Amino acid sequence: MLIGILALQGAFLEHAKMLDRLGVPHYEIRNLGTLRPMDGLILPGGESTTMGKLLRDEGLFEPLRDLIKNGLPVFATCAGLILLAKKIDNDARSYFATMNVDVVRNAYGRQLGSFRTEAPMDGIGTIPMVFIRAPYVARTNGTSRVLATVDGHIVAVREGNQLGTAFHPELSENLSVHRYFIEIIKHNLQ
Ligand code: GLN
Repeated sequence: MLIGILALQGAFLEHAKMLDRLGVPHYEIRNLGTLRPMDGLILPGGESTTMGKLLRDEGLFEPLRDLIKNGLPVFATCAGLILLAKKIDNDARSYFATMNVDVVRNAYGRQLGSFRTEAPMDGIGTIPMVFIRAPYVARTNGTSRVLATVDGHIVAVREGNQLGTAFHPELSENLSVHRYFIEIIKHNLQ
């Protein structure tokens, strides 16, 4: 199993460390030249507008979008989830638009820009959740489903092989969301 981590910007090293702890091989996707066959893709947190621009500048946008559309398992955190969303309620842009969810960017406002909490996630149990200028999901459409909510807002979603969290599992000590993603990949490889 090999997981590609989009490493244009943002918290990609933290994901790499989680995969190291789980003993799962991974590599960094920095440009088209470094893209190689993989069994799963991680889209990290960071700044979605910057990542969207760099994805296009590096010629990665269409190849990655097509891989996701064709069923490549993808785990997207925070800005990564914004990249997957079909619609951004407070922004005219959209990016890969492969997941049937509508998100709100920077949804918690300035005062609650960053916070940590604990909440249950479907199929996992109660886990720590770190939010940094996070989006939340306003609506799930199509076959997308809710995996976790915090204070009535949707913060984890899944649609087929696509998994998205508004929070950052890679910034906690808890490996369970990464484990959950690895199960999606294993199932997809069967
Ligand atoms: N606020 C960022 C954005 O809108 C996301 C923040 C994050 O990924 N930690 O892209």
